[in-house]
Amino acid sequence: MSVVLGIDLGGTALKWAVRPPDATARDLIAHGSMPTGADRTAIVAAMTDLVHRVDVEHGRVHAVGVGVPGHVDRATGVVRFLPNVSGDWGGFPLGAALRRDTGRPITVLNDARAFCLAELTMGAARGRRDALFLTLGTGVGGGVAVGGRLLVGSDDRLGEIGHLTYDRSGPRCGCGNRGCLELYASGPALVRGLRERTGRRPDSPRAVVAAADAGDGPAAEVLARAGRAIGETLASLCAVLPAEVAVIGGGVAAGLPALRPHIERALAERAEFIGPVAVVAAALGPMAGALGAALAASSHPDEPSGRAATGRSHRADEPERRST
Ligand SMILES: [Zn+2]
Repeated sequence: MSVVLGIDLGGTALKWAVRPPDATARDLIAHGSMPTGADRTAIVAAMTDLVHRVDVEHGRVHAVGVGVPGHVDRATGVVRFLPNVSGDWGGFPLGAALRRDTGRPITVLNDARAFCLAELTMGAARGRRDALFLTLGTGVGGGVAVGGRLLVGSDDRLGEIGHLTYDRSGPRCGCGNRGCLELYASGPALVRGLRERTGRRPDSPRAVVAAADAGDGPAAEVLARAGRAIGETLASLCAVLPAEVAVIGGGVAAGLPALRPHIERALAERAEFIGPVAVVAAALGPMAGALGAALAASSHPDEPSGRAATGRSHRADEPERRST
């Protein structure tokens, strides 16, 4: 049996998922996670070891997809910008290095786009044509599907919804801009928001959500501001990119019940122009990124089963197939 391996490289954890090569299959053969290595050499070695381990334990790995939290050249697999993973990554040919070390076709893509591909193909947006995606975590990532296809740009930046300006007079963002959505809706933004209002130091975004759920006023205000920022940003996007559904995922999405009324209100205020937009929770959980990376690998042009994966229900994979 042959399989595809999807890897989701994060700043602290490397998650992986093993799937059948057929992009239409819904099975997850195996999955796991390990701490992210201390530097680039260790991380590449860990990925190579993982390929060989999966070969032995689950079947020959025919293709590998790697989602990374940054910008990558989709055509070459060269990393452009990867600020939150240890090591010197700018300009590193990750795709070529892994191909050399493993002998397998490698697809490198942005981790948020991997999440979107999974949710579009087999998750909350399955069967939808026009969708926007947001992942709320350490940062805010996203993606755009139009006509059932995930839109893909050359450096995999298409979908950086977290870096749209929400408040031009807001604080400085890591991207160089001011007042990006990410500064209001990410996990660190929730923690910082409660600290600024109360002097308290919640130990996680989840603690802010729990406080709001328990009736804490300042925590509820922080979530209201985040929800408002998300809703207004999505509403603006929908002026250009009509969407029937907005899929919200990521670690902070546990707060969706508290965020949702504020998101929906902002969308409703513009409903006459943008039409109805359903706000739904992501369906695939924390393995979505690894699953999406595996789905992208299924569509790699060097992967025989990728070429076979055509047909009405595979529209979501086509941009990936063209991309490398
Ligand atoms: Zn920014």
